[in-house]
Amino acid sequence: MDATVFHFDNSYAQLPERFYASLPPSPVPRPRLIRLNEELARHLGLDPGQLGNESGIEILAGNRVPDGATPLAMAYAGFQFGGWVPQLGDGRAILLGEVIDVDGVRRDIQLKGAGRTPFSRMGDGRAVLGPVLREYIVSEAMAALGIPTTRSLAAVFTGEEIMRETLLPGAVLTRIAGSHVRVGTFQYFSARRDVEALRLLADYVITRHYPELKGAVEPYLALLGAVIDRQASLVADWQLVGFIHGVMNTDNMSIAGETIDYGPCAFMDDFHPETVFSSIDHMGRYAYRNQPSIAHWNLAGFAQTLLPLVSDDQEDAVAKATKVVNTFPERFQAFYAPGLRRKIGLADIREGDDELAQSLLSSMADSRADFTLTFRGLCSLNRARTQADDSVRGLFADGAAFDQWAVRWRQRLASEGRSDLERQTDMRCVNPAFIPRNHLVERVIRAAEDDGNLAPFDELVNVLAAPYEDQPGREWFTSPPRPEEVVKQTFCGT
Ligand code: AMP
Ligand code: MG
Repeated sequence: MDATVFHFDNSYAQLPERFYASLPPSPVPRPRLIRLNEELARHLGLDPGQLGNESGIEILAGNRVPDGATPLAMAYAGFQFGGWVPQLGDGRAILLGEVIDVDGVRRDIQLKGAGRTPFSRMGDGRAVLGPVLREYIVSEAMAALGIPTTRSLAAVFTGEEIMRETLLPGAVLTRIAGSHVRVGTFQYFSARRDVEALRLLADYVITRHYPELKGAVEPYLALLGAVIDRQASLVADWQLVGFIHGVMNTDNMSIAGETIDYGPCAFMDDFHPETVFSSIDHMGRYAYRNQPSIAHWNLAGFAQTLLPLVSDDQEDAVAKATKVVNTFPERFQAFYAPGLRRKIGLADIREGDDELAQSLLSSMADSRADFTLTFRGLCSLNRARTQADDSVRGLFADGAAFDQWAVRWRQRLASEGRSDLERQTDMRCVNPAFIPRNHLVERVIRAAEDDGNLAPFDELVNVLAAPYEDQPGREWFTSPPRPEEVVKQTFCGT
């Protein structure tokens, strides 16, 4: 017997059987490691050496169920693009179990692409190389940006060819999450009028993610408020770095408040609020500008599932829950507005700040200025105008519009006590230089898929690990795409 690799402490498997289907991952022919996230492994209390050796890779590919695992596929439902789907569930993911990380936080270890399950419907249960690399890159970039997210512990080749539009190499991603409970998990039981399951699930979530609510007078109402708060904070974080999730269906919204399910997601290059990348989002439902209101809509759906727990009196429950749901816009602003102020270097709060920040965004949109370069560029400007202004001005089709804004900005900066250096250092902590630009992601996927070359993937992951640092010699990674490199559409992982 092998030495224990994971010190499992599984709680989800102790919930009643109707919460999941128990089954092991389906074996694959030739597992081969693509990348192991050694730092994350250590954080999870795992030995990277053990995980990266032959028997560790067998586990990461789903060929061997490690000691202590209770493999299962979770049941959930969801609203997809506004349409109700009563049964989704893990159609190609297997939860091996949970470990407690070095900070004492419980983390799910899940294999994505691990084969068919009772929830697979028409799908083959598998994942292909491109989307696996994409999820690895973007989720790890999000973590480095300081935004709550699921993580990527490892990616492995399966040695199988998977049929999509063409035959593509198969891969498995080991996904780590605070938990995989989604808004759609609650909706699954709500639709079945299974109040007992709803209560068990809500209590589970409170214990796992919101233990401070345990003694609350109205714990389920408090849970609603807490989930709304985390989502408001998360979506504000997305807006502030120009991230577009792409499929904000309720089954892709985590109760723990993490970014989850990196399908057709993308970071914007030039700023436009209507931007949408997903090839399946024809109506622009999940466009950048709609993300806060979609989160609000999803959370209203979450609230509805909690009604029978809030009060036996339906009217009373609705009134109470509605009041909490209605706080979303306010809570969102409470995260977004200070974040935006900080991005333009304001430490104090003054009347007119929001308007000043919004007018920059609207000039950027008119001029199609690059979102990331504009804010990073502002970090180098002094209170007095210098030549450095030209580099930011050059990002705007209408340079005069930037000049006019900069005059107002400098007047506002003059009213603060901070030195240029102090302000610039602070701004560099919230305005990244490096983001996983679409064309960069595409480029490494092409190299991996077409030439079996993983070096560009490794290099990109390494660069994105320090997004707020200037990395001399790597300026190339900060550039927007050339016209012929622009990626207009992204595709689901399926
Ligand atoms: P997603 O678009 O990844 O959020 O997935 C939506 C639903 O489709 C979930 O229930 C997935 O488990 C399921 N699904 C996605 N891809 C596959 C696949 N290749 N095989 C089986 N089920 C899948
Ligand atoms: Mg999903």
